[in-house]
Amino acid sequence: MELKIKELTKRYKNKTALDGIDLTLGNGVYALLGPNGAGKSTLMNIIVGLLRQTSGSITLDSREILSLGADYRTRLGFMPQDMGFYPSFTGEEMMRYFAAVKGIKNARHEIDELLKFVNLADDKKRKCCEYSGGMKRRLGIAAALLGGPDILVFDEPTAGLDPKERMRFRNILSRIGRGKLLLIATHIVSDVESIADNVILLDRGKAVQSGTLAEVISSAEGCVWELDCEDSFADEYALSHSGASVIKTAVGTRLHIVQSDKPFDDAVLTAPTLEDVYMLHFGQVSVQ
Ligand code: ADP
Ligand code: MG
Repeated sequence: MELKIKELTKRYKNKTALDGIDLTLGNGVYALLGPNGAGKSTLMNIIVGLLRQTSGSITLDSREILSLGADYRTRLGFMPQDMGFYPSFTGEEMMRYFAAVKGIKNARHEIDELLKFVNLADDKKRKCCEYSGGMKRRLGIAAALLGGPDILVFDEPTAGLDPKERMRFRNILSRIGRGKLLLIATHIVSDVESIADNVILLDRGKAVQSGTLAEVISSAEGCVWELDCEDSFADEYALSHSGASVIKTAVGTRLHIVQSDKPFDDAVLTAPTLEDVYMLHFGQVSVQ
């Protein structure tokens, strides 16, 4: 499968949300990373056909998605940034509703399997309004997976989750990725760095970097420095330098600095992480 995005541009009145995006996606897990306002939701909404681009094209195996109609839609599973459920429906009823909307007949068995897959089997008779944020997200995944789509688009699936739910969520995501295209938008690096095969960095409507996880991480090689120092110095330095953060280790305090120039004579280079790449591009850590 090849989903090809060519010179995609989207303007809202006088705001350019996407500015000439070129990307080729295949099977695998893709992390779409960027701060709020970067254009992630706009890109996803165009990919799933909820929004029209101003110019440019998206093709699936060389055919324009707009011309594929239902053949394309049945291959899509989408979890929007703000997933709406009917509060008086149970999880199971909500799934039956989504199955009906997707035109899936005799969905009972599939619904049971999907609810089991996202660990909601024991809660399927409870009303959606009683679900926690994490349970709602998991129900959203189950709904997106109805009908066995092979192009999955999840917009900020981990926003607002507690650490335990984030871990559960990562485990579920890593199990559905095989043999499908899974595109996950987030501004939280730690949620995707262990499961993404590929990373796309989106900055103010431009895809500033894309490649395999290893390629993207290695782009920050030679730009990540560490220095053991006094507590108070580290705290003060980190406060006044945007690329710096403080690491407390068992033996003392360490400054972690992301920048291309050597910050101190005795600073030593260290291996970059995806968080460092994010910091290098956006000058901020990705916060939950
Ligand atoms: P992200 O999902 O990365 O936070 P969005 O795609 O939501 O980014 O937004 C990208 C930019 O487009 C932002 O500057 C946002 O304010 C703007 N934008 C999004 N939707 C609209 C809209 N309907 N009308 C005008 N501007 C919009
Ligand atoms: Mg968004």
